[in-house]
Amino acid sequence: FPFSRRSDIGSRIHVSFEFFPPKNDEMESKLWQTIERLAPLSPDFVSVTYGAGGSTRERTVRTVRRILNETALKPAAHLTCVDATQAEVDEVIGEFAAMGVRRFVALRGDPKEGVGSAYQPHDGGYENGAELVGALKRQGEFDVSVSAYPEKHPESPDFATDIEMLKRKVDQGASRAITQFFFDNDLFERYVERVRRAGILIPIVPGILPVHNFAQVSSFSKRAGAHVPQWLADRFDGLENDPQTHMLVAAAVTAEQVLDLVERGVSDFHFYTMNRADLVYAICHLIGIREKASTRTVESVAA
Ligand code: FAD
Repeated sequence: FPFSRRSDIGSRIHVSFEFFPPKNDEMESKLWQTIERLAPLSPDFVSVTYGAGGSTRERTVRTVRRILNETALKPAAHLTCVDATQAEVDEVIGEFAAMGVRRFVALRGDPKEGVGSAYQPHDGGYENGAELVGALKRQGEFDVSVSAYPEKHPESPDFATDIEMLKRKVDQGASRAITQFFFDNDLFERYVERVRRAGILIPIVPGILPVHNFAQVSSFSKRAGAHVPQWLADRFDGLENDPQTHMLVAAAVTAEQVLDLVERGVSDFHFYTMNRADLVYAICHLIGIREKASTRTVESVAA
């Protein structure tokens, strides 16, 4: 009897949702519709990304503040250290802390020129994700998540170097790693085995990217170093001008990936929502996550 078909599965699964800060009023209202739709699923936390070099600083701060003020959700602020001095980063940490933020996702970030161009630590800045974790932990009792790369970071020469960096982040106090998105669950499983062999015991939470637009995901994957298997490309083949079927196929593909991870014993999932609720809501439903209100309805009907 597959584990994913047990009726109590939802109580064992934890989810978190990632948003990016909206650029204009229209995007903001879309994001709020998404948050209103997903909030009743009671995620452990929701995170808001941060543009490299602080390019979205104000928008990230505003979005996190609104989540704190208008919802019961626990926001996690992403923070990068690229192109910023330690004093600048510390000021942002102070600003979030003063608002009541207790969770961070600490990242090095990419150079302004984009992924692939050589990273140079900023003069007087934090050198990498590990140093940023250390800075956060010195400034408060924060819960700090970091990144992890099941297919290794594109700049890492090998897995050993990559996992050594993860270890340094854990040694600085990171309590959870969220992975880059991936489509091949075998790669994730092998990566977790490597991480455990290196003595790293924190949860490694898979980052799940619903494929809203295969062409976009495919081109982004190349830059992010995430392998797009041929079978995945085949599934979306010919659907470029058929958004409705594309959406149904995307739901099926992501559901298949998540349910397979559940079968492999994964209980925590981080969704890259792209500020859209549709696919994420459906996948959460499949893994037994229900709105609190609908649980109450079931109870009152039973009574
Ligand atoms: P680090 O953990 O510092 O390093 C990444 C890898 O690079 C290491 O594993 C290591 O192998 C290699 N490396 C680093 N330094 C060295 C060195 N000196 N020598 C050898 N190898 C080295 N970007 C944003 O701009 N904003 C965001 O909000 C954001 N959110 C993200 C959320 C998640 C869950 C993930 C997975 C990524 C996110 N990113 C974000 C992207 C991230 O900034 C990039 O992937 C960046 O290239 C690396 O940042 P990092 O924190 O993973 O770096």
